[in-house]
Amino acid sequence: MTQAIETTRSAAATFTGLKCKECGTEYEAKAIHVCEECFGPLEVAYDYAQLRRTVTRESIQAGPNSIWRYRSFLPVESEHPIDVGTGMTPLLQANRLARRLGIKRLFIKNDAVNMPTLSFKDRVVSVALTRARELGFTTVSCASTGNLANSTAAIAAHAGLECYVFIPSDLEAGKVMGTLIYSPTVMAVHGNYDQVNRLCSEVANTHGWGFVNINLRPYYSEGSKTLGYEVAEQLGWQLPDHIVAPLASGSLFTKIYKGFQEFVKVGLVDDKPVRFSGAQAEGCSPIAQAFAEGRDFITPVKPSTIAKSIAIGNPADGVYALELARKTNGNIESVTDQEIIDGIKLLAETEGIFTETAGGTTIAVLKKLVEAGKINPDETTVAYITGNGLKTQEAVQGYVGEPFTIEPKLDSFERALERSRTLDRLEWQQVSV
Ligand SMILES: *Cc1c(COP(=O)(O)O)cnc(C)c1O
Repeated sequence: MTQAIETTRSAAATFTGLKCKECGTEYEAKAIHVCEECFGPLEVAYDYAQLRRTVTRESIQAGPNSIWRYRSFLPVESEHPIDVGTGMTPLLQANRLARRLGIKRLFIKNDAVNMPTLSFKDRVVSVALTRARELGFTTVSCASTGNLANSTAAIAAHAGLECYVFIPSDLEAGKVMGTLIYSPTVMAVHGNYDQVNRLCSEVANTHGWGFVNINLRPYYSEGSKTLGYEVAEQLGWQLPDHIVAPLASGSLFTKIYKGFQEFVKVGLVDDKPVRFSGAQAEGCSPIAQAFAEGRDFITPVKPSTIAKSIAIGNPADGVYALELARKTNGNIESVTDQEIIDGIKLLAETEGIFTETAGGTTIAVLKKLVEAGKINPDETTVAYITGNGLKTQEAVQGYVGEPFTIEPKLDSFERALERSRTLDRLEWQQVSV
């Protein structure tokens, strides 16, 4: 039993259907994600000649202040996509962090403040649920490492869709609460993400629900292209020299590239080489390991890291991420949990951005790459911060000090102030010996 109904494409749509990434077999734009000929992943195809004729910088700028200003590059037909204000997050020039690291032009793409649920996943879900509605689904679902659960539950609530969410049972409290509040049905599975995902593939087959990252995956993953478009537009219609982004399934990483390439193809930006570097946590680094060992295949691992949001041991787009880093002269690096915590603190102290563990991973890898001379100080570099630190407070618990607890009296404050200055001096001495 399936809830999906056939729809005909509206004249406004510029996507032409789905196409196998491996063998090129074409399919109608339905809720399918695997090629029947070769089992390769399906990807959305577009009419770029039409896009070149109809889209200009001005037409984009006249659009909404959200990902939907790029609607012609997204696989939807609706005149009224689900717009909950997702996208157009700040691109912040990070001078203090750049100076600390020893590079000149660094930007932070800050999806820690994306809407509505404070992670980049709002982008992919806004697109997937708009398409789900077009395909006739009334029930949507996902297999999540946390942020996807938050996004799917929130945006489904806004769109009036019934929602089922599957997560590993050991997620951070903020991620669980940040899902439950929207009243979906939540299944906390005893197992890691890869096991949750396998279970969900079976549920997708038997229940006919729209799983944003399984049977709707071709549409879902296109949402990440907006992270490429926005950076190009915010840099004044230019591409950066180097980007650093976290890798879970590897999808986000490869779609930033697709976004840049499409803008070049339709004449919105000039072509130039962009280096792509990926970040993983050492406790779940199957792509970084393959990169280091010069392999062109991924060996799945069992995740064990505080960076739960990117803990995918068997990454669906791992091979494509690997190829991309190699062909663009980039790198894929991994960092320890302690380096991730230090990365979270470094970004907070220098730029006033509190990111989650995935962002800590990105900053720690950025630092490692600069120190190893793998990022040139003159390159315009963009680091993608994909999630918010308030959701993973457990990760930094015990690493950020304590407040001074005082009485509501001036002398109590003065004593505490003296103590704080002594502590500062001691810390300073420790640092300088
Ligand atoms: C899901 C997620 C990622 C990585 O996404 P992929 O597209 O699967 O590689 C990165 N950062 C955060 C915060 C995420 O939630």
